[in-house]
Amino acid sequence: MNLLFSNDKRGQYPDSWYAATATPLDPFPTLKGEITADACVVGAGYTGLSTALHLAEKGYSVVVLEAQRVGFGASGRNGGQVGHGHNMDQPSLEKKLGKSDARLLWDIAEESIKITRDLAAKHAPDALFKPGHASAYFSQKEADTGRRGYEYLAANYDFEAEYLDRSATADIIGTDQYYGMAETTPDEAPGETPAEMKIEIAGPSTAGRGRPAAWEVASIVNNLEMRQGRLFDADG
Ligand SMILES: Cc1cc2nc3c(=O)[nH]c(=O)nc-3n(C[C@H](O)[C@H](O)[C@H](O)COP(=O)(O)OP(=O)(O)OC[C@H]3O[C@@H](n4cnc5c(N)ncnc54)[C@H](O)[C@@H]3O)c2cc1C
Repeated sequence: MNLLFSNDKRGQYPDSWYAATATPLDPFPTLKGEITADACVVGAGYTGLSTALHLAEKGYSVVVLEAQRVGFGASGRNGGQVGHGHNMDQPSLEKKLGKSDARLLWDIAEESIKITRDLAAKHAPDALFKPGHASAYFSQKEADTGRRGYEYLAANYDFEAEYLDRSATADIIGTDQYYGMAETTPDEAPGETPAEMKIEIAGPSTAGRGRPAAWEVASIVNNLEMRQGRLFDADG
């Protein structure tokens, strides 16, 4: 069983809000035969597209190979929240890695927010990148823990958040189910990045210098061979 295709129809985005609302690109061609490039990126999600774009902007010729469609994987199915930090909080990271490396990871994550915002402004000005992020809490315990987490960031990472109590939260979101909310201010704000953005980046008509070229659907690395820095279609 090939997990790349077992849950989805080949070459078709799964039903989602993104697929329903983003402007779809025409499918990219399937790679046939032989191509030569400075770099070959496998997978057209955030990781692959960002790598390809930044290499291409530095003047390298880059090809992107995608087994399904651009943004087909997690990058086209996620919550779209561009949040701060990592999926482990900073005190836990500090315990695991030491303060200095934890700080480095925090700084990388903060830089990635800026890169995301700049990419949206440069390549997809019509994308719905919205500054601002809020964490809402289901219980008083969660709200207290969340607040302590943000206070730690304020004391150690120069990071500010604004806290709303249960009634102020209800005024904004229209339900009193949440026991409070922490908001980042628009200046520091991350945002939401819709699928539109990653689709714009790899537009085929823009392939060339400063832009990666992309192939998708059945451009699976298993079928390709790399020989002395050149890429061959193993079937052709
Ligand atoms: C439900 C969900 C919600 C999430 N919410 C958030 C969120 O709100 N905020 C956040 O920051 N992160 C979120 N994430 C995490 C985030 O989406 C991922 O970290 C990110 O998209 C990973 O990007 P990627 O490019 O590394 O991988 P992917 O986007 O998965 O891209 C990998 C690509 O490689 C292709 N591929 C794989 N193997 C091959 C092969 N052999 N040959 C050719 N192509 C291949 C796949 O088809 C795919 O398109 C969420 C994830 C999920 C699943």
